[in-house]
Amino acid sequence: MSENIRVRFCPSPTGNPHVGMIRTALFNWAFARHTGGTFVFRIEDTDSARDSQESYDALLASLRWLGLDWDEGPEVGGDYGPYRQSERMDIYADVANKLHESGHAYYCYCSPEELENAREAAKAESRTPGYAGTCRDLSEEEIAAFVAQGREPVLRFRMPDRDFTWDDLVRGDITFAAEHVPDYVLVRANGEPLYTLVNPVDDAMMRITHVLRGEDLLSSTPRQLALYEALAAIGVSDGTTPRFGHLPYVMGEGNKKLSKRDPESSLHMYRENGYLPEALLNYLALLGWSMGNDVEFFDKEAMAAAFTLERVNPNPARFDLKKCTALNGDWIRALSLESLIARLTPLLHEAGLVDEVPTAAQMALLEAGVPLIQERMETLNQAEAMLSFLLVDPQNFVVDADDSAAVLGPAADGVLAAASAALQNLEPWTTESIQEALRAALIEGLGIKPKLAFGPVRVAVTGRRVSPPLFESMEILGRDESLSRLQTARST
Ligand code: GLU
Ligand code: ZN
Repeated sequence: MSENIRVRFCPSPTGNPHVGMIRTALFNWAFARHTGGTFVFRIEDTDSARDSQESYDALLASLRWLGLDWDEGPEVGGDYGPYRQSERMDIYADVANKLHESGHAYYCYCSPEELENAREAAKAESRTPGYAGTCRDLSEEEIAAFVAQGREPVLRFRMPDRDFTWDDLVRGDITFAAEHVPDYVLVRANGEPLYTLVNPVDDAMMRITHVLRGEDLLSSTPRQLALYEALAAIGVSDGTTPRFGHLPYVMGEGNKKLSKRDPESSLHMYRENGYLPEALLNYLALLGWSMGNDVEFFDKEAMAAAFTLERVNPNPARFDLKKCTALNGDWIRALSLESLIARLTPLLHEAGLVDEVPTAAQMALLEAGVPLIQERMETLNQAEAMLSFLLVDPQNFVVDADDSAAVLGPAADGVLAAASAALQNLEPWTTESIQEALRAALIEGLGIKPKLAFGPVRVAVTGRRVSPPLFESMEILGRDESLSRLQTARST
């Protein structure tokens, strides 16, 4: 595609960023990158009651964390700014006026109660419950009477009395019959412009060519197509209308639409629980798009290189946290040791286990210990529990209370004593020699099963029943510390 493709990601800064929103951002980003187009980031903050600065900051921070860079938008600028709608209010007021003057919109004086009654009546008669066009053609006198009553009008768009059809980039031909698209409100009685106005106005003025967004917005498309025609007529748009593509729903548990309130929706949850941004993007890419040839592991650059709209699937996608987490494990395993250590360091520092910049001794422990856990981690956060036995200051080492109660105690003392004796003078101190010595002393010597033999040793040395491989761990920990822990763990 050689034309100048311009797409946009235009969230409202309310609440916390959620995965559905990020999936939309990712698909737009990939489409822009694939086509050499422009990715516009616009903030739809015209609802002062719901929008917040925290949410705005969180949006920017999230895109940065994910590495989804924008070509125009907040903090970047561009030729079509400002990119925060709260800074464009004059534009909307001007366009609203022009739409009114040109007759594309009209003032509606119906009170909320009147509208509600009309809705009820329509329902009772099983007619489509939309605005019936009551105020479409009010006379001067009728208007004067409403004004005298102190009524404050909303501005309504006059929908043309015909069907609207478009060739959806994801779903093919879609038609909305005229009777299903009633006249709708553009500006509230208090003068606040609504999404219905500001979103298409900005898409037009920012020369957006492709609108890729969630299926939940499908019903606003015929309204926007009609508004586009009006915007062209009054000279706000250059007459081109963007193509629309509606991305499939994302379903959560129990085949219900994933809701912003579901915990697995929250982007922060992933960041806080040790998911890699690469893995999350990889997973979100699979929600409605496929690379083909069963390739399911790829980074966002590979996605961008392969991204075409033909491969977007209109059927609902299923969000599966287990699969997302397993993919995160794959991503962790694919990291170089150096890079994994770099990502774990801030978490381990926060847990008080290493310095902000690890000392040489800490680095040596990380380089020895991290390979032991890389194979078994699914999230970065698991490292703290798995590595603390190794990194903690020996005086602060404690055995997990539950694990101690389950495995240690008088019955285990014999095992711990035999293990100590076998390791006392062991030469050399290697994974293999430790394993051999303990096997000989415990399994053969005491005649007990591996689980009963190594369980107490593991809890004594690593503090937990679930740990990195035992003999490797002991090699890294060293003889003195291992023996000291075996001693401390004895109940007598
Ligand atoms: N601000 C709108 C939303 O977050 C944008 C919808 C659209 O992409 O048109 O739902
Ligand atoms: Zn009305």
